[in-house]
Amino acid sequence: MKRLVSLCLAVLLLAGATCARADAAVREIYDVDGLRAMANDPAGHYRLMNDIDMGGVDWTPIAFSGELDGGGHCLYNLTVTKPGPDTRVTRDGNKKEYDTTLAGLFSALENASVHDLRLTGAYVNVENDTHCFAALLAGYVNQSVVSAVSVQGRVRMTSHGVMVGVGGLAGFGFGSFDRCDAKIELVFEDQNFDFRCEEFMGGVLACGIAEINACMIDIDGYASCHGYVHNGGLVGMSYHCGTKNTGKPVTNNIIEGRIRFFEDNPDRRAYCEATIGEPLTKPSKTGSNHAAFKSDETKKYDVVLLPEQCAEPSYEETVVPPEGQRWGYTMHRCGGCGYLWTDTYTPPAP
Ligand SMILES: [Zn+2]
Repeated sequence: MKRLVSLCLAVLLLAGATCARADAAVREIYDVDGLRAMANDPAGHYRLMNDIDMGGVDWTPIAFSGELDGGGHCLYNLTVTKPGPDTRVTRDGNKKEYDTTLAGLFSALENASVHDLRLTGAYVNVENDTHCFAALLAGYVNQSVVSAVSVQGRVRMTSHGVMVGVGGLAGFGFGSFDRCDAKIELVFEDQNFDFRCEEFMGGVLACGIAEINACMIDIDGYASCHGYVHNGGLVGMSYHCGTKNTGKPVTNNIIEGRIRFFEDNPDRRAYCEATIGEPLTKPSKTGSNHAAFKSDETKKYDVVLLPEQCAEPSYEETVVPPEGQRWGYTMHRCGGCGYLWTDTYTPPAP
């Protein structure tokens, strides 16, 4: 064994290669088909080898339990319009269980590791007739580690369900988020007037328990809710949800932005805070979290809260080409209210 190690070291020194390269178990991903193939072996170990344009792809969220090394690369122009085929059990503050659909790049991350990945110009837009969590990276997380993942984009939910939420990185569950950043617009529109929904919104995680360290969140949130709101710059509601999970550290994070919301409910609680909206389970440690965050409540319940302010918006499109190391994109700006969003990202010239 010693000789083998010496030999490996010698080869390393000679070739300047790494032992990891010889690891045949790591599957290399070069394109959309390679990404889709993760669904066939969701416990596998994968590595992105280049940036991938997801534009024009009707993406089906994947339930994943392996390792995805993004290699610092970018999946750009991802669009998700429906939850994945599988569901998971979620639990509200009273431990009531809901069979829940899940939308994001991944539907679920379970015992998974995702790291060194970027999502740029991502758009998750679902209209759900049942319980649902949607986020850019994953609708559901369980005992998973997300590190050095950067997401930029929009999540919209038009909801007819009861247990429902939108997150920047993840929707419901238990995970660790280290050195991640999210620049996100989150919009939740409650269309269920028969039952009071449980709504959750968070820049990192909508509902559950997360260890969150050194993340940077820039959030622009809108929640129109005829039930109960739980909104936070980092986590909407921190709660063990009837599981054995305990509070985790929430430290060294920077939160900017605001959540504009209403809670049309005579039993109004209106949880909305810069870090954790409703801390039913407190973090084991908090410290050095810096926030420039506005909880922006309105009690006008008849107008759905949207970033776009005009009843009849008129958009002007500007194509910004890539320049040097900077990505290009298309900018859509309303001449009436100035609301703008970007899509159709184009990579810098190689
Ligand atoms: Zn407008």
